[in-house]
Amino acid sequence: MGEADGAAGPGEADGAAEDLFVPVVTGAARPDPRVLPAAPVTRFAPAPTGHLHLGHLVNALYTWGIARATGGRVLLRIEDHDRQRSRPEFEAALLEDLQRLGLSPDEPPIAAFRAGATPYRQSNSGELYAAALERLREAGLIYACACSRATFAGYEEERRRPWRGIGCPGGCRALGLDDNGAITLRAAVGAGSERWIDLLAGPMADEPASGGDPPVRDRAGNWTYLFAVVVDDMRHGVDLVIRGRDLLEATPTQLRLAKMLGREAPPVFLHHPLVRLGSGRKLSKAHGDTSVRSLLDGGASPAALFGRAARLAGLQTDEQPIDPGALGGLFSA
Ligand SMILES: [Zn+2]
Repeated sequence: MGEADGAAGPGEADGAAEDLFVPVVTGAARPDPRVLPAAPVTRFAPAPTGHLHLGHLVNALYTWGIARATGGRVLLRIEDHDRQRSRPEFEAALLEDLQRLGLSPDEPPIAAFRAGATPYRQSNSGELYAAALERLREAGLIYACACSRATFAGYEEERRRPWRGIGCPGGCRALGLDDNGAITLRAAVGAGSERWIDLLAGPMADEPASGGDPPVRDRAGNWTYLFAVVVDDMRHGVDLVIRGRDLLEATPTQLRLAKMLGREAPPVFLHHPLVRLGSGRKLSKAHGDTSVRSLLDGGASPAALFGRAARLAGLQTDEQPIDPGALGGLFSA
């Protein structure tokens, strides 16, 4: 998924299944049933850049489990905003894996993806992101940025600290560079903090600009994850975002972008523990031995896999199998 999708590259694909563990960062793995919103709209949003793995299964466990425990709805969204890395064969495979696992989205039916273009696929939604961009541009909040990775690295080398604060290290907003379609576009998110509720971590507050202005479109012409999911969650009425702890830092930036686009009520968040390798590295799709399809092909039942995912997430102490239809029980009072 956009969210659980690691940036792992070649050479990271080691670690036997026995090495998997979940570091307990803060708080419990299970949200207090009394704080769960009633009938939320949430989403499962994988990126088709590899096969579903145990990390996705943990995310699915929370997503379907909480939706079923609260009378909520699960939307399925294909996050193929990265056109260079996304592949139709991975989308086809993940749809098949969801069906084998017994996980049905409430909206849209899986058949909608197989039928062709759908607004639940990001690559079919470019006009909507472009319209959102234009709204921000008309408000004077978008600028072209010529800074490269080397610009950021050079700043860090010179000052002995990473770049922080409003804008970008090159001060590009003041330069008024042309948007030639092959340059990064950033949104000027401004100062101040955003507050939100995290169902595991409690009330949170942080500054969106702590890492600089976020890119909304990269120089390859891709809409960024940060921007596309904000537009998607608004248009689809998603009011509960369930994702891994690695995205906690992105939250204030996304809340600010949503506010700039006119979203009045922010979503509630749940950032769940990540499944990691014993080495501490995040599990990614590069770890083929933990792909859901290879585990299913090897004879594991969906119930056994959900039991294992629940233990990895710290939701149960053993691997007691959980039927796909009983996931709500993990989150009920
Ligand atoms: Zn710049």
